[in-house]
Amino acid sequence: MTTRLLPALLFLLFLGVPFLPGVPSFWITLADYAGIASIVALGLVVLTGYGGMTSFGQATFMGCGAYVSALLTTGAGLSPWLSLPAALLASGAAALALGAVTLRLSGHYLALATIAWAVSLYYLAGNLDLLGRNDGLSGIPPLRIGGLLLTGSREYFVVVWVAVAVAVLLTLNLLDSRVGRAIRALRGGAAAAASFGVHLPRTRILAFTYAAVLAGLAGWLYAHMQRSVNPTPFGLNASIEYLLMAVVGGAGSVWGALLGATLVTVVNDQLQSLLPRLLGQQGNYETVVFGALLVLVLQTAPDGLWPRLRRLFPPARPRRVGANAAPLRARTLSSTPGLPVLSAAGLRKAFGGLVAVNDMGLHLDAREIVGLIGPNGAGKSTTFNLLTGVARPDAGQVHVLGRDVTGLRPPGVARLGIARSFQHVKLVPGMSVLENVALGAHLRGTAGPISALLRLDRAEEARLFAEARRQIARVGLKEHADKPGDSLALGQQRLVEIARALCLDPILLLLDEPAAGLRHAEKADLAALLRRLRRDGVTVLLVEHDMEFVMRLADRLVVMEFGAKLAEGDPAAIRANPAVVEAYLGAAA
Ligand code: ADP
Ligand code: MG
Repeated sequence: MTTRLLPALLFLLFLGVPFLPGVPSFWITLADYAGIASIVALGLVVLTGYGGMTSFGQATFMGCGAYVSALLTTGAGLSPWLSLPAALLASGAAALALGAVTLRLSGHYLALATIAWAVSLYYLAGNLDLLGRNDGLSGIPPLRIGGLLLTGSREYFVVVWVAVAVAVLLTLNLLDSRVGRAIRALRGGAAAAASFGVHLPRTRILAFTYAAVLAGLAGWLYAHMQRSVNPTPFGLNASIEYLLMAVVGGAGSVWGALLGATLVTVVNDQLQSLLPRLLGQQGNYETVVFGALLVLVLQTAPDGLWPRLRRLFPPARPRRVGANAAPLRARTLSSTPGLPVLSAAGLRKAFGGLVAVNDMGLHLDAREIVGLIGPNGAGKSTTFNLLTGVARPDAGQVHVLGRDVTGLRPPGVARLGIARSFQHVKLVPGMSVLENVALGAHLRGTAGPISALLRLDRAEEARLFAEARRQIARVGLKEHADKPGDSLALGQQRLVEIARALCLDPILLLLDEPAAGLRHAEKADLAALLRRLRRDGVTVLLVEHDMEFVMRLADRLVVMEFGAKLAEGDPAAIRANPAVVEAYLGAAA
């Protein structure tokens, strides 16, 4: 409890600062602007820093909130407090509408699209009579609490920074949740997240809408502080500045947004008064100097300033969530030995002229360990991708438990109980081993964004993390659970991927070169684990180059060459097969 009491106390003291005698109101006004900008930048942490989507449209959403509140309070005479939900709803709805049509784009195209609608809406606002054209709307009422009118920058400071605190708490809650892990995976681990059931388009829209609602809140605060609105503060330039704030402070953290917003607001203002005194009145030097400062910051601290500052503090203590939580419900699926789990026939996949997989067939029965072997480039990983929906077959069918699942996308495949690891390890950068593994249990939780924001998801989270810890212990990485995933050796990262796959509670496990990079003893442990899984009813298909390892472990081997099946049989038969010896084993020996 004390861990929360201290920040709360400090925050209360902070709210009192403007009321100390001698604090110049100029600085308080600046702090008000910094707070409003912080809220916009917070949205960008979620959207850009974690979600990997660049938006040049945040000021537009801010304008959306500001104009809606201005219209409702001046035209309809609504109280500003009542127009707040309308402002938030409007910016959220605008984001849903714009996101639905533009979020299909990615990378630079998405950024360009946001520029396009930011510019169009700017000119639209400047030409609509309803919105007062370029003059905007004025006579917006101030906020009032009882008989107290919040017209001074001191009183407004309290409102703004309480709003910042609420936004920070909500954002921290969101990022530390089942949905938050999905959002955080968007930038560097989207493929992996999809393979564990994360619906990527929905997750993108969610991050986009959340950021827009925060911008709408900032717009509402701005409108009732300024008491008038016009298009200029909501144009493209403003959006660029918000993006700069997030980048300078560090878009990878909530505190970076606050730092960046405050710093950019203050520096901008100081340059405007300082430079004319130094360099004379003619010319706008502040843009040049500001740009130079920005380049300097990004050269010395590419991840923003916050990570630098963070190093001065002691590292965060590992989370204790989930120590004695009830176990998650397990799949109640009978896996009678011999029951066909997966069968694929006639699979074909071409990349341009290269036929990577050609008329490939495969069947797996329950409680079998099957090794898929063959020379490099034979099409093993592509076959995995066809089975898991990562790639769509040009021809052929896949059946799981007798059901045709050809063409299903990765989340659909995951829902069937098929979990996988990747040949090129795909852990989410910046996430701990524990969180990475918990991502594997995505489909075993149900908490959505609202319960995440309001912290109603703690019981479920505890169960998800307890499961993640159990699976981490199962692959022998117990002591590493709280380390960053990417700090582990590559072989261990593969084990993390296996733990993550186990978190799905799979009936079928597809492992692409799980033993690569493991030491001899670790390989023996892995083999023992896979045998235990088989006993517990899991079917395993693994690609492996270590022949000794796979021959001892597998019940059956399938050999691929040039995209097609060359041979199939038990290890002894494969070892004696002249075609296999010539194509693969001979070369390996
Ligand atoms: P394996 O896993 O057996 O080593 P892969 O399935 O990774 O083989 O690759 C089979 C062939 O398909 C290789 O020649 C590889 O270069 C090619 N290939 C795989 N994925 C792609 C892709 N996304 N685009 C183009 N070529 C690919
Ligand atoms: Mg491969």
